[in-house]
Amino acid sequence: MAAKNRPVVLTGDTPTGQLHLGHYFGSVKRRVEMQDSHECYFLLANMHAFTTRADKSEEIRNDCFDIVLDHLAMGIDPDRSSIFLQTEVPAISELTYLFAMLLPFNRVLRNPTLKDEIKVKGLGDNYSFGFPLYAVGQTADILAFRAHSVPVGEDQVPHLELTREVARRFNQMYCGVSDQAEDHEHVELGGVFPVPLADVGKIGRLVGTDGVNKMSKSLNNAILITDTPKQVRKKMGKLYTGRQSPTDPGDTDNALFHYVDVFIEDPDRIAELRDRYSRGDNIGDGEIKVEIAESISKLLEPMQERRRAYEGDRDRILAILKEGSEKAIASTEATLNAAKEAANLHFFDRTIRYS
Ligand code: ATP
Ligand code: MG
Repeated sequence: MAAKNRPVVLTGDTPTGQLHLGHYFGSVKRRVEMQDSHECYFLLANMHAFTTRADKSEEIRNDCFDIVLDHLAMGIDPDRSSIFLQTEVPAISELTYLFAMLLPFNRVLRNPTLKDEIKVKGLGDNYSFGFPLYAVGQTADILAFRAHSVPVGEDQVPHLELTREVARRFNQMYCGVSDQAEDHEHVELGGVFPVPLADVGKIGRLVGTDGVNKMSKSLNNAILITDTPKQVRKKMGKLYTGRQSPTDPGDTDNALFHYVDVFIEDPDRIAELRDRYSRGDNIGDGEIKVEIAESISKLLEPMQERRRAYEGDRDRILAILKEGSEKAIASTEATLNAAKEAANLHFFDRTIRYS
């Protein structure tokens, strides 16, 4: 398919540390699969990392390099996809400001993902003004590329809903699109922005090794892409089911079987484990955990090998980010231009380029 006619995909990660299996199954795995059929942009949300860690700018910068290494490890190919820095793309900030005018303040604050984050990260009522603003910023991340779909985990769906609202409102307010128009008709009716779809995969929420919460770096329940087989076994060992003995009939709706379903490849083996576990047929949680851990390490091994090939080569990573950012700038400047024309904000043409 000619690159120009491919549907556009935009998604990304906040540099809050190394990536983990939740990121892989929630989003990155599908990114890898889309590289030939879609025009792919993968963003490092380094400005959004400042919303809660403005005092840790050096860590955030280092996390950016780590994330690129993890991307490459998981199979993202910089020759086919653009990996770029949010802060290198001015159109995103400019659209954030404009979109902030299109959303009621209280609508942004009602976003359940923001509320969850405030609770989970213990932000209380002292979070920065920029913290809720990041939800608006995320609408700009996506719409700046006029993305058609956004491969994300389940927690991102409220953000996508906000993005869809911004796209509709902009197209109705400035492009004469009727408020009766269907979402898929917006562009053909003259709207600048497609109304994008959240593309949540089969595993929209990978549970962490605490067996309860979403796998998350900040909750210390994550298996990292770089974890050694020993670390994986240790983390899996912590998964608590409450089952006492290998002869107790177990509940296969528990977190252990969430892992079995995700990580054991052979469907016959999954069926066998389910059957024996539910009957208490002399099968311990421990042996299942070891089997899962082995399967995880088998998945991680080639990733870690690829990662090692790039480690320590910051110049190479910088070159990837520069090329990705240049492509992102080209795409988003065109969008910004169209948006400014529609909103009567266009006065002069401009070109942005690196020296
Ligand atoms: P962390 O809490 O570990 O920093 P995060 O959710 O804040 O992770 P983001 O950078 O916000 O990380 O998310 C990047 C992508 O990965 C998003 O699409 C998100 O939905 C997805 N994701 C992250 N954790 C999981 C998970 N445990 N299961 C499924 N998808 C996930
Ligand atoms: Mg997050």
